[in-house]
Amino acid sequence: MNILLIEDETRVADFLRRGLSAEGWSVQHAPDGETGIEFTRQDSFDLIILDLMLPGISGQDVCRKLRARKITTPILMLSALDATDERVAGLKIGADDYLPKPFDFDELVARIEALHRRASGYRAERVSDMLDFGAITFNKTSYVAKVDGTELDLSAKERDLLLLFMSNPGRVLSRERILNAVWGVNADPMTNVVDVYVGRVRRKLGDHGQRIVTLRHVGYRFEE
Ligand code: CA
Repeated sequence: MNILLIEDETRVADFLRRGLSAEGWSVQHAPDGETGIEFTRQDSFDLIILDLMLPGISGQDVCRKLRARKITTPILMLSALDATDERVAGLKIGADDYLPKPFDFDELVARIEALHRRASGYRAERVSDMLDFGAITFNKTSYVAKVDGTELDLSAKERDLLLLFMSNPGRVLSRERILNAVWGVNADPMTNVVDVYVGRVRRKLGDHGQRIVTLRHVGYRFEE
C-alpha cells in the first residue's frame, strides 16, 4: 500500500513513517498541504493521512481541493482537536475517517486497514492476505509474522517455513514435502536442515512453538 502522509510536525511524521514502513507500507511524507497536493499530481496513493492543523493551507482545504479534483483516495484525518463538530466537519468535506491526537499506533493501523478494505471493496484476496491463528499472525503481503503483536525476527527460510505451516493448518507435512517446498527439489534429502529450521522457528515462537508438533518418522503438523 502506498500512503501519503501530510503532517507538519517532524516528530510525529518520523514516528509514523517508521511505524507504517514496518507494517510493510510505503510512505511519502509532505510537510505541508501544498506539497501534499503536488504529490497527488505526481503519484497515485491508496490512502492519505492528513493532519488538520498545517502551515499554509489547512487540512480541511487540502481535503476539499482533492475531492474537488475527484480524487477518491480514502482520507484519514488527524487532529489534536477532539471536538465532535470538528470530526463531523471533517467527514462532511470528504474525509473518510478521523482520529484524534494523541492516538494509539495500533488503532491507526487498524483504521488504515479498515479504510483500505472498504476502498478495495472487501476483495476476497485482501482478506486472505492475513493468516491469523490468534497469537500468531502472518501477513502474506508484507511478509511480516507476529506473535502477540510483536514482529518476529526471522530469516528468509524460517519465514518460508512458518508460512508453509500456517498455510496448512492441521495437515501432516512430511520432511520431504517441507524440504521441497522451502529449499527446492534439488535439496539433499539426507540433510537434517528441516529439523534444524523447525527447531529455530519453534524457539522464536516461544510458548506458541509447541503448535508445531513432531510426528515421529512422519513429519510435522501445525496445530490450528
Ligand atoms: Ca499539525
